[in-house]
Amino acid sequence: MSAAPANEPTFRESVDLMFNRAVALMDLPPGLEEKIRVCNATYTVRFGVRLRGQIHTFTGYRSVHSEHMEPVKGGIRFASAVNQDEVEALAALMTYKCALVETPFGGSKGGLCLNPRDYDEYELEQITRRFAYELAKRDLIHPSQNVPAPDMGTSEREMAWIADQYARMNTTDINARACVTGKPLNAGGIAGRVEATGRGVQYALREFFRHPEDVAVAGLSGDLQGKRIVVQGLGNVGYHAAKFLSEGDGAKITGIIERDGALYDPDGLNVEKVREWLIRHGGLKGYPDANHTAEGGAVLEHECDILIPAALEGVINLSNAHRIQAPLIIEAANGPITAGADDILRAAGKVIIPDLYANAGGVTVSYFEWVKNLSHIRFGRLQRRQEEARHELVLRELERLDEALGDAWNIDPGFKEKYLKGADELELVRSGLDDTMRTAYQSMREVWHGREDVTDLRTAGFIVAIDRVASSYRAKGL
Ligand code: GLU
Repeated sequence: MSAAPANEPTFRESVDLMFNRAVALMDLPPGLEEKIRVCNATYTVRFGVRLRGQIHTFTGYRSVHSEHMEPVKGGIRFASAVNQDEVEALAALMTYKCALVETPFGGSKGGLCLNPRDYDEYELEQITRRFAYELAKRDLIHPSQNVPAPDMGTSEREMAWIADQYARMNTTDINARACVTGKPLNAGGIAGRVEATGRGVQYALREFFRHPEDVAVAGLSGDLQGKRIVVQGLGNVGYHAAKFLSEGDGAKITGIIERDGALYDPDGLNVEKVREWLIRHGGLKGYPDANHTAEGGAVLEHECDILIPAALEGVINLSNAHRIQAPLIIEAANGPITAGADDILRAAGKVIIPDLYANAGGVTVSYFEWVKNLSHIRFGRLQRRQEEARHELVLRELERLDEALGDAWNIDPGFKEKYLKGADELELVRSGLDDTMRTAYQSMREVWHGREDVTDLRTAGFIVAIDRVASSYRAKGL
């Protein structure tokens, strides 16, 4: 997987170009446009950790893009290529993403320059705790100021270390658990967070396919059943998206691209088996049930119905955009298509479901987790009590009917039990996520179809998001 070539703008410039394209069609008061676009602050920290008898110095960042709402929100990435431009671009995308799906946060992002594969678990814990200490000391981790989450190279494990580090530094903060989301269930996490981004990609595609006119714009028809999908990156997001779409919607995963090349099978790959192989062997090479090619790029350009880039930014760029054949691309990763590539793909009539919408499932469920932590009650427990009381009334009435009707009608005994139980946390999270993805798509779609001058979903999504950020600034001042 290659990053964008040198003749392209940087990732941050690319996000700004997309922002500018939307803003040009809006009527913002002078100066507000720039206020929204620029990144408010980026903190750089260099710290040392003693490992294997020697001091190692690490560089990390936490960027705050917009504080029109607080806390600000966004993941922490561990990768060797992390740099200031990248975290600023990602922080900006968080602002627009949160606004589009109406999670009440500003945008932020963090990163640490290191390859997690180079360290064992104990070493990673020491490094993560020290980084968390440096950020928390400056309120860059804080339940009401700045709430990180997992991103590339981090998972629930790192979030548990961060939460614990914060709690140790703030022993009297009753809301300490809400300082970070994406925690394990037994450390204040919420059911369904791990797979939330992948699940959101599935819900986004389902919502898209609920609109035959939109599907026709991409030159496709019907539903997800039998659609050929190529996925780039079988990490947390790509894996869950591919798994849910193949198991739940009958789509065929015809290609999977990873660091060491790609697998291709026109009849569809078994996502679960490929993932197991990848975890066990660290790559796709040698996988017995499909053809492997070292040329991952070729599979990205392969004929398919839907392309899901779910890995790095800038993978579809000026050097390969004109060869992409998929008529529909859904950005599960942040920024996988550069601004230049976006122009080429749009000119070629491709439909792009943009990152700020497509991968918003993660932050949406993070929001549920944060609310759960602050309310100090199991998610949905209050609503459930109310629901149960209502259910009891209905059941009593049903039982009366049951008796009156005698043999003519009998309540299924299983029904009573299920009905009384109500929805559990996972069901609530899923329906909340589904509802969020549907509503956000509708708001983008209204702009996409409702305005002559808006011809793509990305511009529509940016317009909706920027408009909300602007109203928030207008309402409360700068
Ligand atoms: N890192 C994820 C993203 O890019 C999740 C952020 C969050 O949950 O705060 O959206």
